[in-house]
Amino acid sequence: MSSNGMIFDIKEFAVHDGGGVRTTVFFKGCPLRCVWCHNPEGQNPYPELMRKAGCENCGRCRAGCDHVDCAPFGRCLRACPKGLLKVAGYKISSDELAERLSRDADLYKMSGGGVTVSGGEPLMQPDFLCELLEKLRSNGIHCAIETSGYAGEEVFRRVIGLCDFVYCDLKLADDGEHIKYTGVSNKPILRNIEILRESGVKYKLRTPLIPGITDTEENLDAISSITLPGEVEYLPYNKMAGAKYVMLGRKYTLG
Ligand code: SF4
Repeated sequence: MSSNGMIFDIKEFAVHDGGGVRTTVFFKGCPLRCVWCHNPEGQNPYPELMRKAGCENCGRCRAGCDHVDCAPFGRCLRACPKGLLKVAGYKISSDELAERLSRDADLYKMSGGGVTVSGGEPLMQPDFLCELLEKLRSNGIHCAIETSGYAGEEVFRRVIGLCDFVYCDLKLADDGEHIKYTGVSNKPILRNIEILRESGVKYKLRTPLIPGITDTEENLDAISSITLPGEVEYLPYNKMAGAKYVMLGRKYTLG
């Protein structure tokens, strides 16, 4: 079976997404809206138009088109004389993606690397994701996933059962704060972390250090109190996120 999924990037030679030489594939669509998100083009599950620096808003690309239903934007892209538009998001079948990611299988093996599935939130496309993981594993490729942990229990169990390593976020310990800054409750995430602990799958929890939001003494103490020693790694704040919001015509509220 080969169903279609929506991705927005494939990054080769990734060094921060697990051991060895890895390729990271970014799934499009996320149920969270973290105010610090550095991949805002990964939130919407559909293709989106992005405008590169230098766009003078001349309007040629919009002539006769409101960009609401026109994805994948072929006509609009061709309309820009300077080539300043790009589309984030395209459909691909699990067969085609697995074939593409498997081309470097020897390199992964030699370096102790593999493929990391990130996003967005990969668990939003569970059937496509599971098909991909099954195909990669049948090619002997080490598979890791980066997830917010926000998913139904059944989907979470099914996916981690196909992973060699899981990175699962634990951003904020307080549920009210979690809702305030990500748009969703942390209860399903905490439940899934329990499932992860019991699964026997290798994992790491991750807390991004966002100034004044997740890096507060209260949050870090609370996270320490509900996690095991050595279970959490802390990620530095990515200051470069703002530019992508501008390209999407959105406001970066953390500016
Ligand atoms: S979970 Fe990740 S992709 Fe989703 S909004 Fe938060 S930071 Fe962005």
